[in-house]
Amino acid sequence: MARVIVLGAGIAGMPAAYDLKKLLGAGHTVTLIGTTEHFQFTPSNPWVAVGWRKPDQVKVPIRPSVERKGIEFIAQAVQSVDPEQNRVTLADGRGLEYDYLVIATGPALAFDEIPGFGPDAFSHSICTTPHAERAGAAYRAFLLNPGPVVVGAVQGASCFGPAYEFAMILDADLRKRRLRDRVPITFVTSEPYIGHMGLGGVGDSKGLLESELRQRHIKWITNARVSEMTADTVKVAEHDERGQPLREHDLPSRYTMFIPAFRGVPAVAGAKALCNPRGFVVIDEFQRNPTHQNVYSAGVCVAIPPVEATPVPTGAPKTGYMIESMVTAIAHNIHDELAGKAPSHRATWNAICLADLGDDGVAFVALPQIPPRNVTWAKQGKWVHLAKIAFEKYFMRKMKTGSTEPVYEKYVLKALGILRLKSGDHAEDHPA
Ligand SMILES: Cc1cc2nc3c(=O)[nH]c(=O)nc-3n(C[C@H](O)[C@H](O)[C@H](O)COP(=O)(O)OP(=O)(O)OC[C@H]3O[C@@H](n4cnc5c(N)ncnc54)[C@H](O)[C@@H]3O)c2cc1C
Repeated sequence: MARVIVLGAGIAGMPAAYDLKKLLGAGHTVTLIGTTEHFQFTPSNPWVAVGWRKPDQVKVPIRPSVERKGIEFIAQAVQSVDPEQNRVTLADGRGLEYDYLVIATGPALAFDEIPGFGPDAFSHSICTTPHAERAGAAYRAFLLNPGPVVVGAVQGASCFGPAYEFAMILDADLRKRRLRDRVPITFVTSEPYIGHMGLGGVGDSKGLLESELRQRHIKWITNARVSEMTADTVKVAEHDERGQPLREHDLPSRYTMFIPAFRGVPAVAGAKALCNPRGFVVIDEFQRNPTHQNVYSAGVCVAIPPVEATPVPTGAPKTGYMIESMVTAIAHNIHDELAGKAPSHRATWNAICLADLGDDGVAFVALPQIPPRNVTWAKQGKWVHLAKIAFEKYFMRKMKTGSTEPVYEKYVLKALGILRLKSGDHAEDHPA
């Protein structure tokens, strides 16, 4: 009997535990470890921050759902990982041994890299649901005394979609409240151009997002490095295409929200043999650590190089469907290893992103996410806003029921040529 531990109960970890249990059956144990009793649906956080969702509406209790499937659940942070001893140590000091470890711990948020940055200083965050809840309380106070807003993503950030979403959701909310005329909004980003997204653009994402920002009277600064945030100012150094400083901006702000750069969580980053210098888990094409091959990893915590060098550093995003494809590959590879076969499953890393812009939205499809690609398109419309609401309900239901790839999802996406696993030995995905 093998002991499999899944570390982190987020968008990667919970489906990983379900998929593994389903494939491995009763003959092996699957233990899921997460910091809290609740799964939080991170993509809904921008809505929590403007009060369109209550925090409880974007959470699912983990224990009853996973235990019903025969998965053991421990609601406690892991303190350290020791890949030499095949052991994790919990916050209460208890040690657990594993045969296979799946690391899905998401990001640590690097607010400390910029003075004045973060929810304990002068900016708000939507990266976790508790952060979004605090950002929401501050937003309600801001509405009583509105003024300039600065939103964006700092140098080294890899997750740009939520920054665009939040700027435009704020715009939509303020228009509904008839307060927009009192709120100048500036969007500040380390991307070399609007719509780059850390991906070198997706279809006409540049044209679509520039047009959306223009229509909504949102000014922007690209190639930006934020040097400091204070109670009422964001200090930004704009750079040219060679990465040289071009001009300084002192932007007045009464409400500031930036997506930070990410790094690996300390419990995992401490296992140096597993990680790159920023604490992200190094993986091979089978999602497996090359040094400790019984350690797999999926989600934001894996090391992926930037898609291209940019004048101000940006990273490559790890989006939901890409993460699910990593999870599917891992479950099949561990299943194969236990059956005495070599791992052979490789994730497609296809990206399907629905960016909600408050009253409409932009959908991006990049197959695969990292260029060169077989398919790229970006389309805009009200249907995207509705599709994102439907996706929220659908994903949270999947987490409650434990059905991680219901038949209709498989066949609808397959019809669009979107698959989770690469077929055969080819480097591309081949729709059947
Ligand atoms: C605001 C926001 C909106 C996003 N919206 C979208 C979107 O619309 N579409 C899309 O495709 N992608 C989106 N993303 C990107 C990505 O899908 C999410 O970041 C997603 O949550 C990543 O999943 P994950 O499992 O890697 O990390 P997480 O969902 O963050 O899960 C990691 C889990 O590990 C736990 N953990 C961490 N350390 C420990 C420890 N030491 N011990 C135990 N547990 C630990 C954490 O508490 C957490 O529960 C968004 C990201 C953000 C920040």
